[in-house]
Amino acid sequence: MSSELLIKNGRVIDPANGIDKECDVLIVDEKIAEVSQKTEDRRTVIDASGKLVVPGLIDIHVHFREPGDEEEETIASGSEAAVAAGFTSVVCMPNTNPVIENETDVEYIHRKGRQRRKTHVYTMGAITKGLQGVELAEMGLMAEAGAVGFTDDGRGVQDPAVMLRALKYAAMFDVVVAQHCQDDGFAGNGVMNSGYYSTILGLPGIDPLGEEAMLWRDIQLIKKVRPGRIRYHAQHISTAGSVELIRAAKRDSLPITCEVTPHHLLLTEECCAEYDTNYKVNPPLRAEKDIEALKQAIADGLVDALVTDHAPHLQSEKELEFLAAPFGIASLECALGLYVNALIEPGVLDWPGLISLMTEKPAKIIGVDKGTLGVGRQADVTIIDPNADYEIDVNTFRSKSRNCPYHGWKVKGKVEKTIVGGEIRFEA
Ligand SMILES: [Zn+2]
Ligand SMILES: [Zn+2]
Repeated sequence: MSSELLIKNGRVIDPANGIDKECDVLIVDEKIAEVSQKTEDRRTVIDASGKLVVPGLIDIHVHFREPGDEEEETIASGSEAAVAAGFTSVVCMPNTNPVIENETDVEYIHRKGRQRRKTHVYTMGAITKGLQGVELAEMGLMAEAGAVGFTDDGRGVQDPAVMLRALKYAAMFDVVVAQHCQDDGFAGNGVMNSGYYSTILGLPGIDPLGEEAMLWRDIQLIKKVRPGRIRYHAQHISTAGSVELIRAAKRDSLPITCEVTPHHLLLTEECCAEYDTNYKVNPPLRAEKDIEALKQAIADGLVDALVTDHAPHLQSEKELEFLAAPFGIASLECALGLYVNALIEPGVLDWPGLISLMTEKPAKIIGVDKGTLGVGRQADVTIIDPNADYEIDVNTFRSKSRNCPYHGWKVKGKVEKTIVGGEIRFEA
């Protein structure tokens, strides 16, 4: 017997199909069966009046810390957090312990995700063995096992010859290569953005040039391997200079995409003034002019995905002094509210624009058939109350970690229900 779920009267936003209107979505079994204005009653009806009905949100940059640091996060706890935040698909980064660098590792992450039956869990594989930047990891076998990208996230691939080999090799499998752009020569032992604030705080700085130099270098490499199936993705870009490099590369129609995090849109280096390690993140929080440039880039359509770079850490580690504490912010469960705050309220994007950058566009980057409400597609749907005001409370997080500087922030836009494969997996 087939199961039916009818979502009625919501504002359906499906940017991939150019839909933004009040109508109903019928799910039969695991698939989208119909998107129309029919109102015939079905057995299970969700009344979505006044709500947004959108393709399930996709975050292509999270750290679930499994294997190796299960006290900070597991695929299980991360999956719970994800559906509570409206994400029906997430992509784990491979910088775990051990590193995800062969097909068995990839299968392990995917299997753990399936077993949890919450959100779809994908993983990227490492570009180089042990993230050491020297020898390429088993990219072919990992692609075959379903890795949706390659990255040494947490660090950039320093050796240009290794990076060039990685780009050429990945192109054979049509899998994206994602780079955490950071030239270690400019980063050194830095813990925050270098500039006025790092000077007065007496903390070693990370020069914005480090990000820009590696991005510039990679763009030259991409030009060298054209044409082909090469795809390159710049992770968490954070500086005005990076925006200009992306702008020029896109003007030249290079196969480049990029992503932005909420913290690089909402917080500046000034936040580090109290030495609160919840603001210690990599790439570091930059200056006001960088935020303006990133917002302009988003308004201009230069940014392809909004991500969280959800990076959970133990309280005990974050309580270390600023120099010693680990980098990272746990933001999965407040992502939507933060993006509404950063982009919709100031008028940088409207809802369809925001949803596009959290659904169809990231799906394209990782090459999965998701991110739309097209008939016949797997029924991953998120229902959002766009007007619900609430206060971010880290104590309500399903995530195991609390390293989140947004505690107490008032935001708008709340996830009401998350449907994955036709099944309601989260209800507020
Ligand atoms: Zn990174
Ligand atoms: Zn990351």
